[in-house]
Amino acid sequence: MLAARALQEMGYTEVASMTGGFNRWRDAGFPVAKERQLTPDQLSRYSRHFMLTQVGEAGQRKLLDANMLLIGAGGLGSPAGYYLAAAGVGTLGVIDGDVVDLSNLQRQILHSTEAVGRSKVESARETLTRLNPDVQVIGYQERITRANIMALVKDFDVVVDGSDNFPTRYLVNDACFLAGKPIVHGSIFQFEGQATVFVPGQGPCYRCIFPSPPGPGLVPN
Ligand SMILES: [Zn+2]
Repeated sequence: MLAARALQEMGYTEVASMTGGFNRWRDAGFPVAKERQLTPDQLSRYSRHFMLTQVGEAGQRKLLDANMLLIGAGGLGSPAGYYLAAAGVGTLGVIDGDVVDLSNLQRQILHSTEAVGRSKVESARETLTRLNPDVQVIGYQERITRANIMALVKDFDVVVDGSDNFPTRYLVNDACFLAGKPIVHGSIFQFEGQATVFVPGQGPCYRCIFPSPPGPGLVPN
């Protein structure tokens, strides 16, 4: 009855009694949520996630419906992309303007020896969809610029910044701040690594912590 009262207060007097049940609700054009059905293969593939109370079947459905954008398919984007695809994040955007180089292969594990000379985005798409056919990979073979960044981030739930230079890092930070999108940052130097999550409105952004980039030549990439 509380639901009926709430609906009445919202102005839904016609259906507030809930007579006619679900069918009448749906036929009257009110919102309904249809739950994604997992296939037998998916039940098997993600069965270990179902044992984790923090994920479960409901969480897996959310992951399959999620969109994440990977900035860069290099040393940071490779392991992140692999694990996100394996976990069943349903849509992965990958942006990278480079081609695979032999000197990348010792760390950029998305790419194989046969992929040398080919676009990193294409190579990433092949590797990730071979790992998990549930994942749709949207490739952008281009560099991030002020002109394309806002349009890119707007369609994604979360952005993973695996870029290798400071101008891109600040650009991605500013765009995600303005668009209200969480960013997962990764950075490494030799044997050390850092991962940070910036959620707009829930703490500082990258620029709050590092107001200006280091001078040229101070930090190797
Ligand atoms: Zn800030």
